[in-house]
Formats: sequence, structure tokens, C-alpha cells
Amino acid sequence: MAHLLITGGAGFIGSHTCLVLLQGGHSLVVLDNFANSSPESLRRVGELANLPTAGRIGVIEGDIRNPADLDRAFTATGHVDGVIHFAGLKAVGESVQQPLRYWDVNVNGSRLLIEAMQRHDCRTLVFSSTSTVYGEPQTFPISEAFTTNPLHPYAQTKLAVEWMLQALEASEPGWCISRLRYFNPVGAHPSGRIGEDPLGIPNNLFPFITQVASRQRPLLRIFGADWPTPDGTGVRDYLHVMDLAEAHALAIAWLLQHQRSLPVLNLGTGRGLSVLEVLQAFEACTGLAIPREFVARRDGDVAKLEGCAERAAEILGWRANRSLEQMCSDGWAWQSANPRGYGC
Ligand code: NAD
Ligand code: UDP
Repeated sequence: MAHLLITGGAGFIGSHTCLVLLQGGHSLVVLDNFANSSPESLRRVGELANLPTAGRIGVIEGDIRNPADLDRAFTATGHVDGVIHFAGLKAVGESVQQPLRYWDVNVNGSRLLIEAMQRHDCRTLVFSSTSTVYGEPQTFPISEAFTTNPLHPYAQTKLAVEWMLQALEASEPGWCISRLRYFNPVGAHPSGRIGEDPLGIPNNLFPFITQVASRQRPLLRIFGADWPTPDGTGVRDYLHVMDLAEAHALAIAWLLQHQRSLPVLNLGTGRGLSVLEVLQAFEACTGLAIPREFVARRDGDVAKLEGCAERAAEILGWRANRSLEQMCSDGWAWQSANPRGYGC
């Protein structure tokens, strides 16, 4: 069993991954500044993992851009065997408004983390990247061999870190690195105890739908009915956050076992779903009607993103197996039990 540092471990994907890792017997230290999360998520992770039978979790409030905070995380509970790096900013629109902040947190923060890893003799890293690095491809499904074309500062900063990691591996032996390009993670742990807790008005489709379902918002605005897709609404490759969490556990285990890097891996289901298909599934699963209206396309949106995750299946033996119905029912279990997120 390994001792792992999880940056951004209190966030949406990080908290679900911490649970899977603890249940796998690993011990964890989480470094998070709680800029977009709450310590309550980690308290509940500990509860769900049924400590102390599972591994242990330590929490350090701090910033990845502060070397002293990083040093505390690396020394808090003994030698760190590997790092899973979730901490970062992720809102596309905000990245267009505040590009320097995105370059600072996502790129500078990652550089400082890597330097801390060098100081503490830890060279095993899983990095959260994004399918938006592919831009607007014209053919599907999108494989890792597709040309990258990041269209906004968020995607540009993620690709810049991928390149930084590639250059690092080439310049210094011993690094074991995994770059994971996620499609659209949704849903929640089936207990409804942990889930996605967006600050303010959600940008993303799923949390918006669940907030309309719980009557916190009057209706869903569907951004565009005229996309070149079968029903005219945008298509995305949604995957259950628990499937994504399990992929991280497999990736870090692979790196620690094989002592070399993985190629870039897409993580998705390989099946694109339109906004209307998601709505129909959510309504069928919950029995709730979701009022909606069609409005203009959202700036920066693309018609379709659908990934090919065959490489992750071949190398890690991973597939996103949970169904759209599970994404809807687990997402609703979380939202209905926690209408104000971790504020309860
Ligand atoms: P999230 O915002 O829920 O989690 C990110 C965590 O990082 C939060 O707990 C936040 O408080 C923390 N954080 C932010 N800045 C920090 C800093 N400077 N120092 C320390 N902690 C900091 O986001 P998420 O959805 O869990 O995403 C995790 C990672 O996955 C991000 O890097 C994101 O870019 C990437 N990603 C997310 C998606 C998605 O749709 N959710 C898709 C592709 C990639
Ligand atoms: N979408 C929508 N209304 C919303 C939020 C999203 O119609 O309130 C659409 C959006 O245009 C896209 C899909 O839902 O076609 C997924 O959007 P999301 O922001 O969740 O993911 P991303 O676009 O970042 O892949």
C-alpha cells in the first residue's frame, strides 16, 4: 500500500478518488486551499471509508503555489510515494476573463508542485488534464492521436502542463507520469454523501439539471437547438465520477508497479449523449419534470465531444461501465439529500 499526496483532494473528482484509494488501503495526505470545496467533503470521505479499517487520511489546508505548504504536505506523515494532482481552476468562461489567474494556478502551481516533488525525491505523478485540449475535432470518436487545438486559456494551461511534464521526463530519468484527459464527469457516490458542490450558479449541465429538479432554479436553458447533431443539441461524453475515480487508482498503481510513464490516456465512455437525451434519462429515472427553454448557443461551445477510451482499456483494463441511469440517480441522491451542497 502506498502513501499518496492528493492535491485538490477535497474537490468533486478528488473526494471520490480519495474514497476509492482509502478503500484500496492506501494512506493519503490531501493538500487543498478549499477555494472551490469544503473540508466537510473529506470528513464524509473518512466516514464512508469506515476508518480505521481502510487507509488513513491527513488534511493540510494550503496552496500548491506556496512551497512551504507543499513541504508541509510532503513531510506531514512520512515519505510520499506518489502524487495525484487535481488542484486547479476549471471554468472555461472564467479562464477567458482571467487568463493570468489560470496560468498562475494551473501552470505555475504545477511547476511548484513538481519542484517540491524533486526536493522530496518523489517522481510518480498522475495529472488531471482535459478533453478540451482537442478543441473542435471534425471526426469521432476522439483518440489520443488526434491533434491538440486548445481554444481557450483553460485548455491551453492544461496542455502547457502536459508539455512541461513531457520535457521533464525527457530531461531527468526516474519520472513516472500519467496524463489523464477526462471527458465529462458527472453523478456522485451512490450513498449521496459526497458529490459535486459548485459555487454559485452551475456552469455545467448536470448540476444545473439537479438544481432545477430541487427547485432551486426555475428552468434549464438549453444552449442551442441548431447544432449539427441528430436532435440539434450539444453532445458530450458523460462518465460517472466513480468510474473516473477508479481510473486514478488504477493509473497510480500502474505507475508504482511498472516504474515508467504511461502514454496520454482519454477517460470517457466512447458514447456521446445530447442534452435532450440526458434530460429524458433524468426525468425517466427520477420521475421529475425539468422545465426548459431553448436559448442561443453559449460562447465557446462545440457541437460534439466523444472520446475513444480504448487505450485506457488496453493498458489499465479500465472501462467506464456505470450507466447514464446511475449517473442520474446517484447525482439526484446527492442533490436531494444536500440541496445546498456541503452547506447541507
Ligand atoms: P474542483 O474545483 O471540484 O476541485 C479542485 C480542487 O482544487 C478544489 O478542492 C479546490 O479547492 C482545489 N484548489 C484550487 N486551487 C488550488 C490551489 N491553488 N491550491 C490548492 N488547492 C487548490 O474540480 P474537479 O471537477 O474535481 O476537477 C479536478 C481536476 O480535474 C481539475 O484540475 C480540473 O481542471 C480537472 N478536470 C475536471 C473536469 C470536470 O468536468 N470536472 C474535466 C476535465 C478535467
Ligand atoms: N448546457 C446547456 N445548458 C446549461 C449547461 C450546459 O444546454 O445550463 C449544454 C452545453 O451547451 C453542452 C452540454 O450541455 O452542449 C454540456 O455542457 P457542460 O458545461 O456540462 O460541459 P462542457 O461544455 O464543458 O463539455
